[in-house]
Amino acid sequence: MSLIQFFNVSKIYTPDIVALDNISLKIDKGEFVFLVGPSGAGKTTFIRLIFRQEIPSKGQIIVGGRSIARLKRNEIPYLRRNIGIVFQDFRLLSDRSIFENVAIALEVLETAPREIKIKVEKALSQVGLSSKARMFPHQLSGGEQQRAAIARAIVNNPRILIADEPTGNLDPATSAEIMKLLEEINHLGTTVIMASHAQDIVNRMKKRVVALDRGRLVRDSREGEYSYEA
Ligand code: ADP
Repeated sequence: MSLIQFFNVSKIYTPDIVALDNISLKIDKGEFVFLVGPSGAGKTTFIRLIFRQEIPSKGQIIVGGRSIARLKRNEIPYLRRNIGIVFQDFRLLSDRSIFENVAIALEVLETAPREIKIKVEKALSQVGLSSKARMFPHQLSGGEQQRAAIARAIVNNPRILIADEPTGNLDPATSAEIMKLLEEINHLGTTVIMASHAQDIVNRMKKRVVALDRGRLVRDSREGEYSYEA
């Protein structure tokens, strides 16, 4: 069964901005999917619909077998617990240590302190940041800050990891390391959906590419490239 399904999904922002236009698509467990397209194509809207930050104007979205439009208010945290998110600008809290930044994702779920320690240490080890746990974000390089943000996103062992331009603020060598990390996380079973403008990265990874343009799905190719010559 597919992990994420969009059935004829449209999103219209008031009064008449068509951000997504009749999108149908399935993403299976364990896939790595790039979401590409020019600015304004609808990538962020697509991502926000998956974790129900937005609701579709038309159509249906199923995540993990559940119609997410029908979730009750008290069921939304359960959906979000299964989705980790990473952004271009890291979004770490500057007055908290790296350990505390990762722990936040668990504290909101009222996890016991001992379990928090075990899980945070495991996540930091997975991203190669065990030695920086007591440091603060400004003491880390951009690549390390993004690793910390990835640790925060995966500490709960989510089924889905969404990355919105995760390499947008990083140099090519650091970007390559982040991509390696995302690929490792994917190989451990997490489905990864990554919006990106970085053509070289998309071309090198040879993963599924879903291309949006002005809200429409214009291409969906296995082992695809950022764009094709006509
Ligand atoms: P992308 O992430 O590919 O740049 P977006 O999903 O952010 O695309 O935007 C798609 C379209 O929807 C754009 O025309 C954008 O201006 C519009 N849009 C996005 N969010 C909103 C919003 N909250 N209200 C109104 N229009 C929006």
